[in-house]
Amino acid sequence: MTESTTIRWEQDDTGVVTLVLDDPNQSANTMNQAFRDSLAVITDRLEAERDSIRGVILTSAKKTFFAGGDLRDLIRVTPETAQELFDGGLAVKRDLRRIETLGKPVVAAINGAALGGGFELALACHHRIALDTPGTRIGCPEVTLGLLPGGGGVVRTVRLLGIADALLKVLLQGTQYNARRARDNGLVHEVAESPEELIAKARAFIDAHPESRQPWDTPGYKIPGGTPAHPKFAANLPAFPANLRKQTNGAPYPAPRNILAAAVEGSQVDFETAQVIEARYFVELAAGQISKNMIQAFFFDLQAVNSGANRPKGVEPRQVRKVAVLGAGMMGAGIAYACARAGIDVVLKDVSAEAAAKGKGYSEKLCAKAVAKGRTTQEKADALLARITPTAETADLAGCDAVIEAVFEDTALKHKVFQEIESVVAPDALLCSNTSTLPITTLAEGVERQADFIGLHFFSPVDKMPLVEIIKGERTGEEALARAFDLVRQINKTPIVVNDSRGFFTSRVIGHFLNEGVAMVGEGVEPASVEQAAAQAGYPAKVLSLMDELTLTLPRKIRAETRRAVEEAGGTWTAHPAETVVDRMVDEFGRTGRSGGAGFYDYTEDGKRAGLWPGLREHFTKPGHDIPFRDMQERMLFAEALDTVRLLEEGVLTSVADANIGSVLGIGFPGWTGGVLQYINGYEGGLPGFVARARELAERYGDRFTPPALLVAKAEKGETFTDAR
Ligand code: NAD
Repeated sequence: MTESTTIRWEQDDTGVVTLVLDDPNQSANTMNQAFRDSLAVITDRLEAERDSIRGVILTSAKKTFFAGGDLRDLIRVTPETAQELFDGGLAVKRDLRRIETLGKPVVAAINGAALGGGFELALACHHRIALDTPGTRIGCPEVTLGLLPGGGGVVRTVRLLGIADALLKVLLQGTQYNARRARDNGLVHEVAESPEELIAKARAFIDAHPESRQPWDTPGYKIPGGTPAHPKFAANLPAFPANLRKQTNGAPYPAPRNILAAAVEGSQVDFETAQVIEARYFVELAAGQISKNMIQAFFFDLQAVNSGANRPKGVEPRQVRKVAVLGAGMMGAGIAYACARAGIDVVLKDVSAEAAAKGKGYSEKLCAKAVAKGRTTQEKADALLARITPTAETADLAGCDAVIEAVFEDTALKHKVFQEIESVVAPDALLCSNTSTLPITTLAEGVERQADFIGLHFFSPVDKMPLVEIIKGERTGEEALARAFDLVRQINKTPIVVNDSRGFFTSRVIGHFLNEGVAMVGEGVEPASVEQAAAQAGYPAKVLSLMDELTLTLPRKIRAETRRAVEEAGGTWTAHPAETVVDRMVDEFGRTGRSGGAGFYDYTEDGKRAGLWPGLREHFTKPGHDIPFRDMQERMLFAEALDTVRLLEEGVLTSVADANIGSVLGIGFPGWTGGVLQYINGYEGGLPGFVARARELAERYGDRFTPPALLVAKAEKGETFTDAR
């Protein structure tokens, strides 16, 4: 006989049954086979012993309530095994339906995170109470993994909140609410301050509602706000596709579309049919490639990267207490804020007290905004600001156990500022530079303790961008690498680790995206089509507009330096077709980008984009030179992916997860791909398909698309890009 291995049955003498979710083989409860079996056993028993039961409390013995679908199972679903997933899902739905129609009050006592499947379990309960702890997160984040809530989450949120709120507040954005916001938005009924109160409130509900049923099982029930058949609702429906377009930028994210369809179609039929509709749309997503890409990147790779797969083993973890930030410009100011927010004391140094104070002013602005929006309290904001000491005095850096330098991009200047401070800070302080282009090994030559010197490449704006690229110089020690890793985690960012090379990983690879977009303009392709191609490929910023943001002069400077380095090393420089376009834009037309008031776009007086510069069509566009839209998109995607493989070959990158995460979080490689190397893995026809297509692009557009040897070898051996862990 099957027994329940993951749900414990505890019954007291008043007839209240507490079902304790407690998978003995995992740190969190998931919707694996053991759970599905247990749920069936428990449901049978509830029905069999119904008459002796007064009510049911569902809670968990783990830190989280329930973690949702088992992603290790989901990533393996193929079109061949899809039917099995469909059947298994319907069985769970049937059991949950049996519990919610038991005729006895069932209460979810949500003692921690209830995301996805966890929230779906809670939705099948008549009453939901959430414990107000920092770990409590409630919602349906499936959309962020290319999926939809397939355990009744679409069917029930639509019936609970109405189609519009279910879609906008829960399903389409995947918002994760804390306990209070979950209550304010109608996802749970009550909040409890302590575990004792949680259970007491659950019991009180049972006492007060001996015959609970769901709103949707109550006679006369109607979906709040109406259904598409309702004239009032029909008037609002056209807003949804527009909302979807805005959310996905026209890129190939199938989940929002399936969610919308499941919600709307499911609202027009009875509960049971709606469950089947939801299951079909769910299985279609789970069997497709894009959910696999997104699960790989946003779950497995992210977990590997953040949990320290690349951190040197055996170095004791260390926390930074006081950090020196050198340079209070755009980056230094942002870094100071990020550190202070994480509770680290910051000494923010610039050339004058005024410049340093101005840098702190940036944190003051961010704090005021956060307070105004209710994201933090005045007290916390004041405490954060009190941790930042602006100064122009080197002596104030005494005792700092880490230094992050963010002065102008100039090797001699960086050497000078490190010389000034090295003897003042703690004798073993970690020495970091936020350079975006200068070789770390050369910068390290300016300090005494070269083993403690490392690159810490933040992205702008620092408060929003989650990634930090850690760059190991030739003489950087393992201890410094571990400490840099710990510091990045301490400020709640995601660290990827690369070896020193010009442009590191991120700056070098994003350059290929920009170059490809610009080159197409030079070939005579309509500039608006180039922008559209980037957007529809899923890039968060259109290629020419991004070029304007970064300025057209910066890539020229980097190109000149790189070219000099290549030629000094005895190599030959291969010009990229984008170069002549950039040169003409700057030299002939004086258009240097947004900060110069004119670039590929025109700008208004106050710096707003005012449309593509009409001169582009006049000077570059050749009617009839359009190329297939798919080629436009794939030239950008392939240019980045192929160079990433070269970086693996060169040993600059050493981890596939780092490449995937770094590309999506750092440089806007489209999320639906699961990152730059997962894009190759998931390409139609796998690696051989990707190689064949790269050769086709090389034939049409140039040698830079010729697949590197590593890629060809892997394709021939039937391998994919994965980390051996
Ligand atoms: P910025 O011009 O905004 O700021 C530089 C600051 O350094 C100025 O406030 C300047 O007064 C100060 N400074 C100059 N000499 C100094 C000295 N001797 N002591 C102390 N302070 C001094 O520049 P930024 O955009 O913040 O860039 C800083 C560094 O970060 C550069 O190395 C840059 O390459 C790198 N970076 C920039 C970005 C970006 O998007 N802007 C992204 C990643 C990395």
